[in-house]
Amino acid sequence: MLFELVIIIFLKRSTFIKSSLALTTIPFMGDLTTLEKMASKFGVTPTMPVLFLGHGNPMYAIQENEFTDGFKSIVKNIPTPTAILCISAHWLTNGTFVTAMEHPKTIHDFGGFPKALFDVQYPAKGSLLLAEETKKLVQNTNVGLDETWGLDHGTWSVVKHLYPDASIPVVQLSIDYSKPASYHYELAKQLSSLRDKGVLIIGSGNIVHNLGKVDFARMDEVDYGYDWAKEARESINRLILQRNDKDLLNYYQLGAAVGLAIPTPDHFFPLVYATALRTSKDTIQLFNDKLVAGSLSMTSVVFS
Ligand code: ZN
Repeated sequence: MLFELVIIIFLKRSTFIKSSLALTTIPFMGDLTTLEKMASKFGVTPTMPVLFLGHGNPMYAIQENEFTDGFKSIVKNIPTPTAILCISAHWLTNGTFVTAMEHPKTIHDFGGFPKALFDVQYPAKGSLLLAEETKKLVQNTNVGLDETWGLDHGTWSVVKHLYPDASIPVVQLSIDYSKPASYHYELAKQLSSLRDKGVLIIGSGNIVHNLGKVDFARMDEVDYGYDWAKEARESINRLILQRNDKDLLNYYQLGAAVGLAIPTPDHFFPLVYATALRTSKDTIQLFNDKLVAGSLSMTSVVFS
């Protein structure tokens, strides 16, 4: 049954890719002067950390476990953000979009899970200001202002543990799945000034993520990983800690173990976004650095 759940997640994802292809770009409202005024409202704040969060099993959204404890622990050291910009593995599009609605809906983009998971609502507001600021900052493509998406489980299942009261506005930035890692890296770098405007940027995915090889009989066993998954985790962790962005972007050339860990890059690209936003001044902290179900990792990173 669990395998069927995973398949449904796959199917739902491809459905969303198709539906996102059909999105039309919402006309951009306001002139530059208006935007400059709006942007100035962000003000200058202490440089915010950047996070990559391994989100794992959607059920973690309604569980208390060592991973959710990890999320709750790291947020204690983060200044209260003005807004969150999340790059989720579950919003793959042709072109780049940013959510631009006052009240983003909670999207339950999976099937077959208990009703309690479908009952979850994460009623954070959106931020048109952040959406428009994001659009303005990205120069290498036209970022579409989207009014149809919302918050998918890649976002709410983790942000819920960081800010349970949903008091921080949340905006999602989509991943143009037609583009390579280097494109996302360059795009993300253009967002760096948001870190000085109180915006907490989060990439939400999983570094080791091979759903086809999940050991469903051992789903709930923490720190259980295949040998190739362990090897891939160590390889990628080493590159993160060594600040070796060049090799990270060439993940597909890192050998068989990493090839099995990243069969498709959807859950890896959010790490690329977070990595691109790291500065030379940032420290790098890994947490939740464990494998689950053989072929998934919860490894998460704080750049601060
Ligand atoms: Zn996922």
